[in-house]
Amino acid sequence: YLAYLNGEFAPLDQLKISVLDRGFLFGDGVYEMIPVYSRVVFRLDEHLSRLEQNLAAIGIPNPHSREAWRELVLSLVAQQTFDDQSIYLQVSRGPAFPRNHAFPAEVSPTVFIFADQLEAPATVLTEQGVSAVTATDVRWLRCNIKAISLLANVLAKQQAADAGVAETILLRDGLLIEGAASNIFIVKTGIIYAPAPSELMLTGITYDLLIELAGQYGLPLQLGDVTEAMLRQADEVWLTSSSKEILAIVLLDGQPVGNGQVGPIYKKMLGFYQEFKRTVMRR
Ligand code: PLP
Repeated sequence: YLAYLNGEFAPLDQLKISVLDRGFLFGDGVYEMIPVYSRVVFRLDEHLSRLEQNLAAIGIPNPHSREAWRELVLSLVAQQTFDDQSIYLQVSRGPAFPRNHAFPAEVSPTVFIFADQLEAPATVLTEQGVSAVTATDVRWLRCNIKAISLLANVLAKQQAADAGVAETILLRDGLLIEGAASNIFIVKTGIIYAPAPSELMLTGITYDLLIELAGQYGLPLQLGDVTEAMLRQADEVWLTSSSKEILAIVLLDGQPVGNGQVGPIYKKMLGFYQEFKRTVMRR
């Protein structure tokens, strides 16, 4: 597992950062998780564009041009021994002393990238679906920033782990927001619904792709408020993320979603998604 830290490539377990790094002390940084299929980086420009927006949003000077980021990621991908990879890329504000919440006057961001092996979701999951629970969204009001400070998401995901299910769906003021580490779509009488992008949720790269695919293949899709009632009465519920792709949620808080089986629109969308992946890999 070759990794990258501030200009240096080395085995993952040999890289070290300062204990004064603001990523470590404050969770002061942003990240991306980028899937790689057969050594083809999936939606790299979309991920880099979100990274650039996130850096700007929290005032970390972007240490690299788009082209330099691209080359860095491609170089790391090329140096791994395995073909399907999940690239974790993190930029923190860097080390500073004395410890002080406000931005230090002079600081140099810490760039850390590593590759892990990527396992495609098991066939049993895409064919039979997964279970989820709901919880109140107790996060802050800037969830559109892909921040490394993930404590609320960690606790939400642990609720799912404790319940023996795949995901926790977060609700705020009676509205569906997103999963602890995914976006959520629902289907009711043939129409796909999802929350519109806002500061309360992360706009997923997979979420954007599903919206694109729905448009391309003429599946009706509406973005806007999705109430808890709509979620509970949905025919289908899906979660999406770069690592999970699209999974149907067939059991929610112990109740079957629709008829409790993976739905027809899910199967269509998954087919379109897999075809899109194949097209990208052929290029
Ligand atoms: N929302 C949250 C909170 C996430 O952590 C993630 C990804 O892990 C997503 C949504 C999905 O984003 P993407 O499709 O870019 O992986």
